[in-house]
Amino acid sequence: MNIHEYQAKELLKGYGVKIQEGIVAETAADATNAAKKLNEMTGTSWFVLKAQIHAGGRGKGQVQETGSNGVVLAKSLDEVGPKSDAILGGTLVTHQTGPEGKKVNKILVAQDVYYPGDSEPKEYYLSILLDRAKGCNVIMASTEGGMDIETVAEETPEKIIKEWIDPAVGLQGFQARKVAFQLGLEGQALKEMVKFIFSLYKAYENTDASQFEINPVLKTSDNQILAVDAKVNLDDNGLFRHKDLLALRD
Ligand code: ADP
Ligand code: MG
Repeated sequence: MNIHEYQAKELLKGYGVKIQEGIVAETAADATNAAKKLNEMTGTSWFVLKAQIHAGGRGKGQVQETGSNGVVLAKSLDEVGPKSDAILGGTLVTHQTGPEGKKVNKILVAQDVYYPGDSEPKEYYLSILLDRAKGCNVIMASTEGGMDIETVAEETPEKIIKEWIDPAVGLQGFQARKVAFQLGLEGQALKEMVKFIFSLYKAYENTDASQFEINPVLKTSDNQILAVDAKVNLDDNGLFRHKDLLALRD
């Protein structure tokens, strides 16, 4: 079962994974209210409007009726209403939806986390999935965040880091540190990434997930590590153990 980004982020947050905060909305008026609330909660004055559909590639995708992209930036509260209107109710076509596209019923109004500061914000790729051939979970990571991992695998396979988890002992500290180190992180950002990987792995195990893909994971200019996007696939065979998760089906 596939769940929406806003649901995936709430789920991850429950396990201590840091996320880009957001509020889901179904109308332009709700989106404006959500933005006001986010401004009070986080101080952000820029907002990201993100179509909630069961497909990726939204940033580059287009809403057929209006030409809007599926992920857009609103640089003031006034922009939130009209820009939300251009996405809501439309048909979003991305490289993952097929030409017929998907109807957008909800958008996530999210805080801008690419603010300037001491260092440049930097995007990474992180996923956890079952390696069927080896019969254990594997963490995959890359410095090429924001790009399709299939493209990275094809063009620069050496940029994909893999760490296999022994099911008997679980994720070990040295493994999380190794991944963070191989991503080129240091200091506070390295520590934050280690925590991020541990929380994410715990969430993965406890939800009987079949795949988590966080693309991008962002290192903010003040060295926080946050999930900006979240794709969560739950194992249909494990769902009977998770009545709460079953309620997330759309
Ligand atoms: P998708 O993978 O469906 O295209 P994402 O949530 O990954 O959707 O967003 C697409 C891209 O939008 C991200 O890779 C990121 O570069 C950009 N983006 C997301 N949030 C922000 C933001 N707050 N400011 C600037 N760019 C953003
Ligand atoms: Mg993404």
